[in-house]
Amino acid sequence: MNRIPFLKTHDDVRRLQLQLWASIIAWTFLVLVLLFWAVRNEDADMLELARQEAVDNFNKDQAFRNWGTKHGGVYVPVSDHTQPSPYLSHIPERDLVTPSGRQLTLMNPAFMLRQMMDDYNELYGVKGRITSLKPLNPANAPDEWEREALMAFDAGETERFEITEINGQPYLRLIRPMRMQAGCLKCHLQQGYMVGEVRGGVGVSVPLANYYKVTGERKQIFLLVLSFIWSVGMVGIFSLTNHSRQRIDERKRYETEIWRQANFDTLTGLSNRSLFMDRLDRALAYARRHDYKLALLFIDLDRFKDVNDTLGHAHGDLLLQEAAKRLQDCVREMDTVSRLGGDEFTVILPEMIENTSAATVAGTILTSLSRPYKLDGQETKLSASIGITIYPQDGEDPGMLLQNADTAMYRAKADGRNTFRYFTWEMNREAGGRAALEADLRHALKWGEFELYYQPILNTLDGRLIGAEALIRWISPKRGLVGPDEFIPLAEESGLIVPMGDWVMRRAAADLAGWDEMGLVMEQLSVNLSTLQFQAKGFTRKILEFLDSQPHLRSRLFFEITESVFIDEGTEPGARLAKLRKEGIGIDIDDFGTGYSSLGYLKRFPVDKIKIDRSFIRDVTIDPEDASLCEAIIAMAHHLKLGVVAEGVETHQQLRFLQRRGCDYAQGYLFGRPMPVEQFTEYMKENLSFDKVVN
Ligand code: C2E
Ligand code: CA
Ligand code: CA
Repeated sequence: MNRIPFLKTHDDVRRLQLQLWASIIAWTFLVLVLLFWAVRNEDADMLELARQEAVDNFNKDQAFRNWGTKHGGVYVPVSDHTQPSPYLSHIPERDLVTPSGRQLTLMNPAFMLRQMMDDYNELYGVKGRITSLKPLNPANAPDEWEREALMAFDAGETERFEITEINGQPYLRLIRPMRMQAGCLKCHLQQGYMVGEVRGGVGVSVPLANYYKVTGERKQIFLLVLSFIWSVGMVGIFSLTNHSRQRIDERKRYETEIWRQANFDTLTGLSNRSLFMDRLDRALAYARRHDYKLALLFIDLDRFKDVNDTLGHAHGDLLLQEAAKRLQDCVREMDTVSRLGGDEFTVILPEMIENTSAATVAGTILTSLSRPYKLDGQETKLSASIGITIYPQDGEDPGMLLQNADTAMYRAKADGRNTFRYFTWEMNREAGGRAALEADLRHALKWGEFELYYQPILNTLDGRLIGAEALIRWISPKRGLVGPDEFIPLAEESGLIVPMGDWVMRRAAADLAGWDEMGLVMEQLSVNLSTLQFQAKGFTRKILEFLDSQPHLRSRLFFEITESVFIDEGTEPGARLAKLRKEGIGIDIDDFGTGYSSLGYLKRFPVDKIKIDRSFIRDVTIDPEDASLCEAIIAMAHHLKLGVVAEGVETHQQLRFLQRRGCDYAQGYLFGRPMPVEQFTEYMKENLSFDKVVN
């Protein structure tokens, strides 16, 4: 239900992935190009070096030939190696005999060079060769490649080279033209050459194996270096991507958080008021289009303020969280549970078929919420009141539906809490909602629509009427008689309880003075004091000043407070209570036993009496658990030297039980209901003793 809407970060992540791939491809491509370039460069360098070596050889060869030609040949002694050349037989002085008789023969430069080339080949592996299109020696006839080169030289080219294989070994072979010089004509004249003409070529073949070895090693180093550079680049790309990814994630988290805070309640994780309104709007639009019904449940926890006040806010928060969880468990996936604030929740039930299905859900929720809560090892009970509105009959827009659901919820509270009520337009006419109630309350305060009723309190042992509890009533010309349970919570919420309490004090003081005058002297007058009144700034001073102006109240006024007074130690309840008691005001603990009673408070704070809540008295004669609880409370109170009042005594059996257990005082319909002042005056006159009331 609390799905996070699609965030733009998905796009960012995709874009980042694309960027990553593009970077990897671009980088790899760049490095490969670099590698290719380096290899090519290396090959070209190698070739150039090998060519240079060949050219060097050619040049040397050329220099020798020049020398030989210039001198017209060299005479050498005849040996196996240097036989008279048949190609020079036309030269008359080919063979000479020295005066000492040694036989010499003329070597032509070409022959001499060929022999040197053979030696050079044997010694250094560099092969040389002379070739010509018109060779004198058939062994010098050109091969295919040489023939082409020689023909190209005729056309003006000056050099050709290629990489080839000789005996399975790689070689660079280079050929350059050899031009006819004057000295050459001695041998080649009959071939019809002219000086300066190309008469053949000199080829040099340089072995490449060594070059290959060196370049191979260099290429390996390149490969290694470039692999390293590539890896470093890749690491950089990945770490940059990772960094960006982290930034995106961080932003996403941040955006999600912002979105959460804007739409969700931080305590319970439920949608908040703003998201609730949005969802309700959409659900209504949908219902309108499809002619569906929709139900809105307004849920308010009962007396949650007391829980918060007595157990502390931390505990209250835990309770709210648990309640929220239970609410979620009660509804379908499509329903929306929200927390509007405080202890107010809503549930939207869209696509309803029957009005009654809202009641089913409400029933489930009430049952679920009233299961005991075990938090921090403490068991707490809670209930809720639910108001239900149905679209379209109870309103067509979110505001109207919500307001009416609120009204229905208040009706559920007024009808005893822990229940649900469907909204009816009748309710609205009667009550006009909470805002109207508050306005009416202000009006009531201003125009004196309140009355103070009195309910007798008797001594259980001798039946004497010892006093009365003052209970406020609102006689509204518009609403009729309104019970305090209906308006006290709102008066507390709105702060109206303070001026209202002041009025109660003045009224009670005046009534007591009236009875005094009539000679109907009462020992005790109990006035209920809301925690809010007690905690209000300047309360003690105000009450003491009032007491000064009403001396007859002194030592007869009792305040009924609830235990929630003790919780907020910031207001120093102990000191305040002590001050009040010093001035003769009695302190009674009201509604004792309803959940959060702690004996610690009774020991630490100065009080006079405790009033056992009427919910324990009701079943005291039939429920052994309630009986033993009452017994224990009475025993404990007496142990602490406190008086005990039983509230809500309705039967003789209850009274007898209380008498046997030594309960000091009793109050309840058995002796008298709360009554207006005139009636109570009559009651006092008639019931001087309790025998008369009971018998
Ligand atoms: P409370 O202080 O517990 O008052 C006792 C309530 O029990 C009264 O309800 C009274 O009518 C009712 N009651 C008394 N005897 C019986 C009985 O035998 N059976 C049953 N079933 N009920 C009985 P009421 O007058 O409706 O007052 C409700 C609550 O409103 C009071 O509970 C008190 O907390 C609050 N309240 C009333 N007047 C004032 C007031 O002037 N100031 C403040 N702060 N709170 C007031
Ligand atoms: Ca009371
Ligand atoms: Ca009470």
